[in-house]
Amino acid sequence: MSDFETISESTPKARKVYRCCICRCVIEKGTIYNYQTGKFDGQIETCRKHKECDELRRMFDVWEYDDVIDILNDTIASNYPSNDSDDEIDEEIDELSYFEQVKRVLQDIKAGILVETGNGYFERKD
Ligand SMILES: [Zn+2]
Repeated sequence: MSDFETISESTPKARKVYRCCICRCVIEKGTIYNYQTGKFDGQIETCRKHKECDELRRMFDVWEYDDVIDILNDTIASNYPSNDSDDEIDEEIDELSYFEQVKRVLQDIKAGILVETGNGYFERKD
């Protein structure tokens, strides 16, 4: 597990444009985002995240930001097949930015289209 120790967490409104440390996409000015300060390997680090990315991180039950994207990639690869071939990902979702994919998967989890199978993994409900 990660040695990240949270010192403080808040949800301010972006006064300028930032970059999300999970999906690496832009956090638009005026957006409410998640601001976290913590200690990592003895260093104080700060991290700004989209609310949605942090929510998905909690659902996936992981700490490492790269893990969120790894699980997101796996979830999309196994649950959003192309109409033409099960080996290919649905082009519509494949072409989205990570932030758009985060929002799409989060929405499908909330709608009950994707259900948890354990260990933070989600599968399409049949
Ligand atoms: Zn993000």
